[in-house]
Formats: sequence, structure tokens, C-alpha cells
Amino acid sequence: MPQATIDPALAPQYGLLTLRALEDAGHEAWVVGGWVRDALRGVAAHDVDVCTSAPWPQSKVALEAAGFVVHETGTAHGTVTAVVCGEPVEVTTYRIDGAYTDQRHPDSVTFVTDVREDLARRDFTVNAMAWHPTRGLLDPFGGAKDVAVGVIRAVGDPAVRFDEDALRILRAVRFAARLDFDIEPATQAALRAAAPTLAGVAQERIGTELRGIMVSGRAAWALRHQREVMFAALPELAPMEGFDQRSRYHCFDVLEHTICVMEGVEQLTVGKASERLRWAAMLHDIGKPTSFTVDEAGQGHFYGHPGRGRDISATLLRRLAIPHELANPILALVRYHDRPCAPKVEPVLKLTASVAAMSGLKRRDEVLELMRELVCLRRADALAKAPAYRIYARELDDHEAVLEKIEREGLCWSTRDLAVSGADVMAACGIAPGPAVGERLSALLADVMAERVPNDRLSLLAWLGRG
Ligand code: ATP
Ligand code: MG
Repeated sequence: MPQATIDPALAPQYGLLTLRALEDAGHEAWVVGGWVRDALRGVAAHDVDVCTSAPWPQSKVALEAAGFVVHETGTAHGTVTAVVCGEPVEVTTYRIDGAYTDQRHPDSVTFVTDVREDLARRDFTVNAMAWHPTRGLLDPFGGAKDVAVGVIRAVGDPAVRFDEDALRILRAVRFAARLDFDIEPATQAALRAAAPTLAGVAQERIGTELRGIMVSGRAAWALRHQREVMFAALPELAPMEGFDQRSRYHCFDVLEHTICVMEGVEQLTVGKASERLRWAAMLHDIGKPTSFTVDEAGQGHFYGHPGRGRDISATLLRRLAIPHELANPILALVRYHDRPCAPKVEPVLKLTASVAAMSGLKRRDEVLELMRELVCLRRADALAKAPAYRIYARELDDHEAVLEKIEREGLCWSTRDLAVSGADVMAACGIAPGPAVGERLSALLADVMAERVPNDRLSLLAWLGRG
């Protein structure tokens, strides 16, 4: 294999200026981590991290002498952040990690003078390279070859590395998903064996890695091929495996159906599904195992599973510290994925009002976008059922047409969007401020949603005058 090289022209100016500032002051410095990995893949969009022989106070002095503003962002770990050409650059002193008694973070770090020691503490070979514009690539663990063939391989003994820091188990899956790499067999065996130790990792760190897997668009791959890891990270998924639905609507167990829906939303969006839609596809039937009943004819039912699924999802998303702005729309998609709804204006507006309320979204365009994602989820759900029931996906074309009409004609689902205000109601009906105003507005909205009166000011005032 030819020597792997990185064209210095790929390196951003702010990274090169950072190296020069440190080296002009007599220190050694390299670009490390994700930028080097991605540059070797021909993707130089990653932010630049720098490591250096300088202890952090001296990094700070050197960088300030070059005219950069420096923030002390993690000095316990030897990190300062310089702002160079408007870009933040993390500069960290060469270090090795101390013992990991809690399998979360090193109890201490020790600063060292040899960059190779720093590279040896890093998790995977593809993340354990350093690069310099004149000294070239420093690659003691064969990371460049692993990038070339597409492999995630632990640096050193994988079992030891996962034992030191269990989060690396999920990081391996995240990098494999994002880069579309395989996991090297010994690393794979070790991460499978170590998967249960993820239980000891802080939930918000798990949440961050899971988000990385979701945004890769390859969470379905992770559920199919890294099941032990995904179940250890999200134990609520495990009961779906092998869960026989005993229903004529379904030809798969709940987990396989779920994976098909996840693949379906990727196909329907050509790989551009939003993060929330991806989460919702994974979680939409999570309430099924605990809402299962069998009728006298032996047919399985899951009455109330969307509500149960919403509750289970709310608990797990909170535990993983997923922000509300992301979690609430996910919960709305899970809650309403199965709601019967005729493809007509009034029922679709009523569903839109419910989705808007649960998602917390306020702007019309945002709510309508979420509604289109709900249609996408329902379509993928229908296509992952038994063949005879996939035809339902067609009805969703009509749903989409109704959404378009709602958007085009400015049809509304909220009293806020009515062409009259509470003040108009008080004037037209001669009533004082109080609950009666809201009641009149709600009655008016109901008639507008049912298309009994158009949402224009004159028509609404006439309606109020009649009442
Ligand atoms: P990205 O930020 O794009 O996900 P990255 O490679 O920058 O990828 P980070 O999580 O930002 O990954 O970490 C930066 C570098 O620090 C990694 O490339 C790796 O060398 C090292 N690293 C991070 N976390 C760990 C860990 N838990 N164990 C060992 N090394 C780690
Ligand atoms: Mg990074």
C-alpha cells in the first residue's frame, strides 16, 4: 500500500497558525484526532485539535504572544482553547490517562513529553494519528491502513481498553455507523463481551453517543448487527426482540418490524431523515410488549401502545438528557403514529392540533414540517406490515395532499391563527374579558376547521354577530 499522505493545502489556516505559534516558542505540536482521520478519507471538514509538548500555562503564553485570545477550558486535563481567525482550537498537552476506577473518566491524567504516548491512550487506530505540515503523518498503530480499508480497531488490547472506559463500546459503534466502517473481529468480540458494562456509564454520555448513531442514519444497522450494545445502552428496546405479534397485520416480530421502519424512513427521505424522525422510527412501537393482549380468536392486539410508547420514550429520553426541543417532537410522533385519521381537512387539522400541542412547536411551518414527518413515519410503518396491509401506504398520499391544501390555503388549527382576536370577540359579542372569550374563539375555530366558515375577517365577524 502506498504511503498515506495528507496534502498540507487541506489544512485550515487557523490550525497551521496554532502549530506555528507553539513551535515558534520552542514547543512541539501536532494536529491530532478526528481531523487527521477525516483528512485521510478526503473529508477535511472536521474541526482541528492540536496537542503539544508544552504544559498548558506555556501553551497559553505562546498563543497569547502570537496575538490569540486564550480560554482556560480544561486545564485539569491540560486543555486551553485559542481563538484563531475566529475559530476555537483546543490545544492539549501530551498526556496519558490514569486509572479508570469508575469506568467513566480517568481518576487523573499524567502529562508526558512524547506524542507517541499520547497517541497510545486514544481509543481506535483511526483516531490515534498525528499530522504536521512538514513532518507528515505519525501513525504508530496503522490507522491510515484501517482508514483505507474501513476498519475500527482498538489501540492495544481491546478488552483492556473497553474495561478502562466502557463508553468506548458505544463510540466504536458510533464511528462504525458514521464512517460506514466494519469493526475488526477481535475488537468486535471484546465489545460484545463488554456490552453489559455500559450500565455503569453516565446516562448523558450514552445519550450523546446514541445521538451520534442516530444522526449517522445507520441506527438500523446498529440494531441489526450491534444488538448487544444497543440493548445495553437502551434496555427498553430488548423486549421487542422475538416478540411474536400474533396478528394478521404483521409478518415480523416487533424488533424486525421496527428495523424495517427505520430503514423505510431512510429510503423515503433518501437518507435525509431528521434526527427526531429517526428516533421516532426506533421508538414508535416500544410500548407494544407491555400492551399486548390476545382475543378469543387468538389474535394479538396492542391497544393503547402509542400512549404507552410515548410514556416509555419520555422516561428514556429524559434519562439520556435529550433536550426538550428534540424530545417533545419525538414524543408527538410516537404518540400519534397510529392515530386513525381520514384524509380530509377537519380530521387532519384536529390531528395537527394534537401534534402541535405535544411537540411544543409554535410556528406553522415547523408544525407542518413535523406533520409531513408523521406521514413519512406512517408510510414506513405501513410498508413494514404484512404484504396485504401495505396498501394503506397509498392513503397517505391523500394525507399529504390535505397537508398541502392546509399550507396553501392557510387553514388553521389554532385560535392564534384566526383572522379575529379576543378583542374582536368582546366588541362583536359585547362581552367582558373572561373565559367566555376563549369559549367563543374555540367554537369559532371548530367551525373554521370544519370549513363551515372561511378564515377571513369579515366572515368571522359576521359569524360572531350571529352568535
Ligand atoms: P468527532 O468529534 O467527529 O465525533 P473525534 O475523533 O473528534 O470525532 P472526539 O470524541 O471529539 O472524537 O475525541 C477527540 C479524540 O480524542 C478522538 O479522536 C480520540 O483520539 C480521543 N478520545 C476521545 N474520547 C476518547 C475515549 N473515551 N478514549 C480514548 N480516546 C478518546
Ligand atoms: Mg471531536
